[in-house]
Amino acid sequence: SLLLDGKVAVISGAATPRGIGLATANLFAKHGAKVVILDLDEKAAAEAAAAIGPQHRGYVCNVVDKDACLKATERVIAEFGRIDILVNNAGITQPAKVVDIDPESWDRILDVNLRGVLYLSQAVIPQMKKQHYGSIACMSSVSAQRGGGILGGPHYSAAKAGVLGLAKAMARELGPDNIRVNCVTPGLIQTDISKGKLTDAQKAEIASSIPLNRLGDANDVAGCYLFLASDLSAYVTGAVIDVNGGMLIH
Ligand code: NAD
Repeated sequence: SLLLDGKVAVISGAATPRGIGLATANLFAKHGAKVVILDLDEKAAAEAAAAIGPQHRGYVCNVVDKDACLKATERVIAEFGRIDILVNNAGITQPAKVVDIDPESWDRILDVNLRGVLYLSQAVIPQMKKQHYGSIACMSSVSAQRGGGILGGPHYSAAKAGVLGLAKAMARELGPDNIRVNCVTPGLIQTDISKGKLTDAQKAEIASSIPLNRLGDANDVAGCYLFLASDLSAYVTGAVIDVNGGMLIH
């Protein structure tokens, strides 16, 4: 049977064509879920969802805006009556040296990557508690673990490390409600987030330093999100799953 048959899945940051979020939305739909894409632009989100199939939805939601998270969640519940899965995937990055991080950049990077995980989770958790069922998967990064991936600055590492702490604390608190919370920590995945920032020669050099000898694809991460979203991982909570081709082994 399908891994997500009849489940309702909300995925933030999933409207961009080559992104991890959209790959995840497609994979979840293939496994029987009804998918709700949340992203910055209503039209882009709605079109991305419609392209997957008529039973899916796309709504505007800036995860930094708590009211927007509550509104989007209300729309999902009005439409589908439940929320089984939340994927806190939205994120932004920026290269920077530590002494060059200005207050505005610190706030922007911390807000989208970390505060957004809190706000959207806060919006969804009451419904999951009612159901006594839910799986929340959060996007961290290898950057959190090794102090920098390849492109993100120290503020990005700090935000993604914050996600690990937040998710583990949520896992501990929400376990008794049968809500699981886990993280993925991808290495370098080829999406628009890094578009134009690495030459082919640089990519080849990075690939040769990775045990699996290649950069990651959005689908590599989507597969791990699927495992965490589904009941295959029913006894997994507070976990961190590396999706990095062996770039960091610990
Ligand atoms: P992407 O830029 O294609 O996707 C990010 C998505 O988030 C976009 O659709 C964007 O519109 C959306 N978004 C940005 N700010 C938002 C906000 N405030 N509210 C709602 N949506 C917002 O890039 P991606 O590589 O698919 O990134 C997805 C996640 O994976 C991010 O959290 C990123 O930090 C993380 N990540 C990426 C890599 C990589 O190498 N690509 C590695 C580790 C972690």
